[in-house]
Amino acid sequence: MELWYTEEHTPSTRFSIKVKKQLFSEKSPFQQIDVFDSEEFGRFFTLDGLMMLTEKDEFIYHDMIVHVPMATNPNIKRVLVIGGGDGGTVRELTRYKTVEKIDMVDIDELVVKTCMKLLPFTACELDDPRVTLHFEDGLKFVRTVEEKYDLIIVDSTDPFGPGEGLFTKEFYGNCFKALGDDGILVNQHENPYYESYSAAMKRAHQRIEDFFPICRVYQAHIPTYPSGHWLFGFASKKYDPVKDLDAAAWNALGIETKYYNTDLHAGCFMLPTYVKKALALKD
Ligand code: SAM
Repeated sequence: MELWYTEEHTPSTRFSIKVKKQLFSEKSPFQQIDVFDSEEFGRFFTLDGLMMLTEKDEFIYHDMIVHVPMATNPNIKRVLVIGGGDGGTVRELTRYKTVEKIDMVDIDELVVKTCMKLLPFTACELDDPRVTLHFEDGLKFVRTVEEKYDLIIVDSTDPFGPGEGLFTKEFYGNCFKALGDDGILVNQHENPYYESYSAAMKRAHQRIEDFFPICRVYQAHIPTYPSGHWLFGFASKKYDPVKDLDAAAWNALGIETKYYNTDLHAGCFMLPTYVKKALALKD
């Protein structure tokens, strides 16, 4: 008998992966958590039936959500990660000796525990002494946080279920307040291709633009996410991600990456025309 994982990307489009074995299945107070093993993508994990990461292509997402802001401002020391329970974002951040403090806020402790047990390739640095784990709603955390961060990374699920609040005006406004004068906010920004995701992307972009003077969007190819075309938002109080990139300084750090490089850094902000139009970006 063959076992397949199938995800509905739209009501008439499905994406399937042949499964070797299901390794975990449990419902937490927040969401359904499943972990599988597969021939093509290795281990992969889903929340409420939506792909979060696979062993084979997670490097693309985590390289792009971390190294783009880190290369833009090499002086980033204090980082807040909202979501990110699989640990991949923290893993990449801990590669910078200059980072002094990482607060990671995930609503679901069971996700983090499960990833530590079954996905050690991403959850391998959560015990780094610079990392503090907070198990609470990111929307509530940023309401009262006193700390001023240099970088906030929103590594969230989609804008429904527990992740819904992380796409609201209130949340972006509180992130703005929790950032220092040269702070950067990066968030996973959905896909531009399918209508329902694209509507969420436009809404998020408009809301972020209400607070931040610099608002850009960049892209990556992530084979197991809907349409394979994924966007990230880059919002900043001071730094322009392309003009302010010091490629030589980042390359001198000697951080080896599989997807990110400083040529791609500039290129990933060059968007297809239909995406520019959808976001109403000027040239
Ligand atoms: N790379 C992934 C993607 O885009 O599909 C995101 C993965 S990461 C595992 C998403 C995390 O966000 C999950 O661990 C989930 O528990 C967490 N999360 C969802 N809503 C949250 C909230 N309101 N506050 C904090 N964490 C939240």
